[in-house]
Amino acid sequence: MLSEEENIKKYLESVIRTIPDFPKPGIQFKDITTLLGDKKALKLTTESLSSPYLEDQCDVVVGLESRGFLFGTNIAEILSASFVPVRKPGKLPSEIISETYELEYGTDSLEMHKDAIKKGDKVIIHDDLIATGGSALAATKLVERLGGVVIGYSFIIELSFLNGRKKLNHDRIESVLII
Ligand code: AMP
Repeated sequence: MLSEEENIKKYLESVIRTIPDFPKPGIQFKDITTLLGDKKALKLTTESLSSPYLEDQCDVVVGLESRGFLFGTNIAEILSASFVPVRKPGKLPSEIISETYELEYGTDSLEMHKDAIKKGDKVIIHDDLIATGGSALAATKLVERLGGVVIGYSFIIELSFLNGRKKLNHDRIESVLII
């Protein structure tokens, strides 16, 4: 018999839709709009993302644009933390810091407001999915440049074959589903 946790994982996996060759050939895109559209899955996902960190006294949840915003504020609320968005270039209106990271072809950048994190803040970095780990690592650098301490990472889906976990090199990486 499956444990309650295994049943939850099985259910969440069943409501995530995989779209082949989106946005380009060879990518198996994990579409979470079907998960968001399911009342039970929405609640279970928020609970599954928050529960590993209930005892950690996190100060800030950092969510990555854009799907990291969907659950990020809910997680922050449950953990009695604040929420900070990490955004794509040109979106944040006040003074920013920026990190550039490598993509398969070319580079990309992520930005954060300079005053978003205070020295010593305990931070959890959240996104819907970790693939290569490049964007989560860039977010880590932004947090650390402002004096924050990353106490862990939180993802709904981890594509383990891309080894993002190794890139982050942290002992606290909590993924609801490891595929
Ligand atoms: P990475 O920086 O390589 O870890 O990529 C993670 C980011 O890209 C996340 O914001 C994901 O939403 C998005 N992403 C990468 N691969 C996929 C995929 N197969 N399905 C859905 N989103 C993806």
